[in-house]
Amino acid sequence: MKSVLVTGAAGFLGSHLCEYYLKLGYTVIGVDNFCTGLRSNIEVLQKSYPTFQFLEKDVTLDWTDLPAAKNLEFVFHFASPASPPHYQKLALETLWVNSIGLKNALQFADQNFARVVFASTREVYGDPELSPQPESSWGNVNSFGERSCYDEAKRFGEALIYSHNKLRNTKHGLVRIFNTYGPRMNPNDGRVVINFILQALQNSDLTIYGDGKQTRSFCYVSDLINGISAYAASNLTEPMNLGNDKEFTVLELAEIILKNIPSKSRLTFKDLPVDDPKKRRPDLAMAKLHLSGWAPTVNLQEGVSKMAEWVKDYVK
Ligand code: NAD
Ligand code: UDP
Repeated sequence: MKSVLVTGAAGFLGSHLCEYYLKLGYTVIGVDNFCTGLRSNIEVLQKSYPTFQFLEKDVTLDWTDLPAAKNLEFVFHFASPASPPHYQKLALETLWVNSIGLKNALQFADQNFARVVFASTREVYGDPELSPQPESSWGNVNSFGERSCYDEAKRFGEALIYSHNKLRNTKHGLVRIFNTYGPRMNPNDGRVVINFILQALQNSDLTIYGDGKQTRSFCYVSDLINGISAYAASNLTEPMNLGNDKEFTVLELAEIILKNIPSKSRLTFKDLPVDDPKKRRPDLAMAKLHLSGWAPTVNLQEGVSKMAEWVKDYVK
């Protein structure tokens, strides 16, 4: 039986990734320190899958207490605060988990002849000058500001993988994930889709930061997980964008949410956070070419309705 290890297993993406491989019959080892993840995400997996093992642990500490991993195929290094409010509150932890945590993941993977897939981000492009953003873009990033702890930590992680592969002759890889949403996201996360859904369900006004004309492209979690698993199974070591390439303004997102969730909410406008990128849309040409026919399939209306069902159930 093959196994995979997922850091950040209690998180939004980590828990879906665990479940994807559990369903395929893998043994899955999950590790998390619950700094932003949900205990309920682990309980769901423990209840349904006897081949799921979990260790509560900070992955920046040494990994000698990890359970033995037989036939380890992949190490998914997904542990990291991910939303702007979380990574700004946990700025130093964010820097360490994407550097020291990734170093530990690479070491463990090499000892077990496994391949690391690192969760990088569209934030490596910063406030992009090009739209859509291809992988070849070097980005327009502030190294000394509110988002730098996250953006630069991920850029460091990418550089670490590049040099590690070159000098150690390994085949680790990374995906650049664009705004993804879906069930199991922490209701305190602070990202826009969960905020708007909660606000709509509670009949409180949707908080638009700035004028709401900034754009994002929103990917439903199942589409993203299919892309990540296809990338993991490939031999690729180059960065690859994953997400959905339909672009919406924040105002359009608010409109879709209010159309799909019965609510008395209206809109309220707040200050735009510092360094908030004006536009974001992935160029998915590389992913579509190399990941045997992968493409996102869930539209925003459908995805928002599915996520709202989960949120309703979770907060009741
Ligand atoms: P999340 O906050 O829901 O999950 C992250 C998990 O990592 C949490 O469970 C947290 O407790 C855990 N964690 C953080 N530091 C840790 C440490 N030192 N030791 C052990 N566990 C630790 O966020 P998410 O949206 O699931 O993001 C997962 C990964 O994907 C992150 O690396 C993030 O940067 C990346 N990513 C996510 C998105 C997105 O749209 N969701 C976009 C780009 C990149
Ligand atoms: N945003 C908003 N209202 C909210 C939360 C976020 O208008 O309640 C905006 C935010 O300023 C950004 C966009 O929505 O322009 C996406 O924010 P998110 O935090 O989801 O992710 P980002 O792509 O900025 O990392």
